[in-house]
Amino acid sequence: MLPNTSEAELREVLVGRSVESVGRRGKYLLIGFDDDVWLSIHRKMSGNLLLEPPESPRALHTHFVVTFDPALELRFVDPRKFGRVNLFRSSVELNEFLAERLGPDSLDLDDTLLASKLKGRSGRIKSLLLDQAFVAGVGNLYADEALWEARVHPLRAANTLTAEEIQRLALAIKHVLTQGIERRGTSFSSYLDADGAPGENQEFLNVYGREGQACPRCGTPIRRIVIGQRSAYFCPKEQVESWSRESEPGQPTHV
Ligand SMILES: [Zn+2]
Repeated sequence: MLPNTSEAELREVLVGRSVESVGRRGKYLLIGFDDDVWLSIHRKMSGNLLLEPPESPRALHTHFVVTFDPALELRFVDPRKFGRVNLFRSSVELNEFLAERLGPDSLDLDDTLLASKLKGRSGRIKSLLLDQAFVAGVGNLYADEALWEARVHPLRAANTLTAEEIQRLALAIKHVLTQGIERRGTSFSSYLDADGAPGENQEFLNVYGREGQACPRCGTPIRRIVIGQRSAYFCPKEQVESWSRESEPGQPTHV
């Protein structure tokens, strides 16, 4: 879990410091300490970060603990051990690390920026949205929700999106993420917030995990396909991959 540091180094560098800021870039949680020392924490697939009193029993798979004064523990519970904690000795180091990995933050996205990023990209739109170097912060579930909201098929080649579709998609990405944050996250599987409480956004999903159920807009059964080993859910009527010449004008071909 410590790709660029060790338990011994963390003790040496962190003990006695104060937290000055807590922030986020893409899916990295950033904790800023005095003297420009930083920790980044990435929860990956199933990690949960909990703030708990030291006397409360530690959950199974608690792999990383930072103890604060007054008594409080930050606990990283990660059954699959995919999570990562990195240490940086300066904000320059931190920013270099993030710049190598992250495109613009998804909450800063607008249609002009998205259009310029999509130009000349022939990859599938959903795969691009999941590529954190393309745009940072969109996960599998939010990509599906945003593509449904924008009525764009997940397998569309990125450079075939119309200006209108790009505008809808930029708005939809911001919308689904903002709503997810307002509802304190999506506990579709194991996500818990820092207080150990599940989020509420899973109760508002339109397509994700809803294969065979009616599309909330048009009633067509939601379909599931697999793209790059990840599930993709969409409405086969409103999210159309391509138009064939044989079909009537304006009649989408379902792929
Ligand atoms: Zn529909």
